[in-house]
Amino acid sequence: MATNSNKTIQALRLYGSKDLRLDCIQAQPCGADEIRVAIAYCGICGTDLHEYNYPVLCPKPGEVHPLTGTSLPVTLGHEMSGTITELGGDVEDLAVGDAVTVNPAIVERHVGLPPCEDCSAGFPNICRSLSNYGLGGSCGGFADEVVVKWYSALKLPPTVSLKVGALVEPLAVAWHSARTANFQEGQDALILGAGPIGLAILQVLKVFGARHVIVSDVLDVRKKHAAAFGATKVVDPLQDSVKVVETVRQVCGDRGVDVAFDASGLQTTLDTAIACVKPRGTIFNVAIHEKGLVVNPTQLSLQEKVFRGGNSYTNEDFASVIAAISDGRLEAESMVTAVVPLENVVEKGFIELLHKKSNHVKILVQPIRQVS
Ligand SMILES: [Zn+2]
Repeated sequence: MATNSNKTIQALRLYGSKDLRLDCIQAQPCGADEIRVAIAYCGICGTDLHEYNYPVLCPKPGEVHPLTGTSLPVTLGHEMSGTITELGGDVEDLAVGDAVTVNPAIVERHVGLPPCEDCSAGFPNICRSLSNYGLGGSCGGFADEVVVKWYSALKLPPTVSLKVGALVEPLAVAWHSARTANFQEGQDALILGAGPIGLAILQVLKVFGARHVIVSDVLDVRKKHAAAFGATKVVDPLQDSVKVVETVRQVCGDRGVDVAFDASGLQTTLDTAIACVKPRGTIFNVAIHEKGLVVNPTQLSLQEKVFRGGNSYTNEDFASVIAAISDGRLEAESMVTAVVPLENVVEKGFIELLHKKSNHVKILVQPIRQVS
């Protein structure tokens, strides 16, 4: 299939701290093992906001990413869905017109290098060379289109809309967290922080067969969503007279919950998580910390509590999420609180989320294509 080498596309590129520009750039060629995907939707993630404030995962000014060789400016956006418009000659199992979502992880395989020990063992999510489409990779989802390796794409069945397809990535983070925390049917959980990932974990835990899930947050819109998504009890630690620890004991019994997911990353949420987990239970970290927190390891040792974390997802998590949405076990669309055009993404997406976080769960960005 011919590549239109003169075609230009719109792409939202990060040049440095608080410097995002909607650029008109040359469309990339589609290699033999690549597909071109016209973007339908791409979600704004908390990570995008962090990168907008100060690039951490994207290359820093003057630096080159050791695996991908990219430097600023880079196109952001890693929660994407779209439709395949072009296939390279070596692509397997995909066709033009297929609706897909993209696992944005970029590891050694993507640049023709042998896999590291972790990739070989089936854990590319913890690859030491890890980069991502939309976070320092060759392209990103806040654009008219992306060109990605064919094995990074996962097909969406007709039962999964393109809008929900853009939510598969954050739901895959949640699925990986529940799986890595070894959460079992009939167990109880506490989720500290009902942002997009906390709410995604709530939904996934219901699919896993949770008995009680207690959610703690201070923002009204998030508390409402947590209740709507089936939390047994929603607690506001700043307003409610009955605090989180007491609520856990009332609902789940004196011993506490089996797993506490910390999706906030504050000293208070970590302390609460440790206090609420039953003996031999798990405190599971899904937050990103800009600075260290204090833990007294004896608090863990005395009752053999486990403190562990998880990082992103694998293709298996993506496939599990797509299957759960497809057969109706997982309903995600109501997480979307706004859809903004790519043209207004900085003001109506990034600035809106930074200043009016309390109004939103998930904002999706939609390129408006000019029909030619
Ligand atoms: Zn690797």
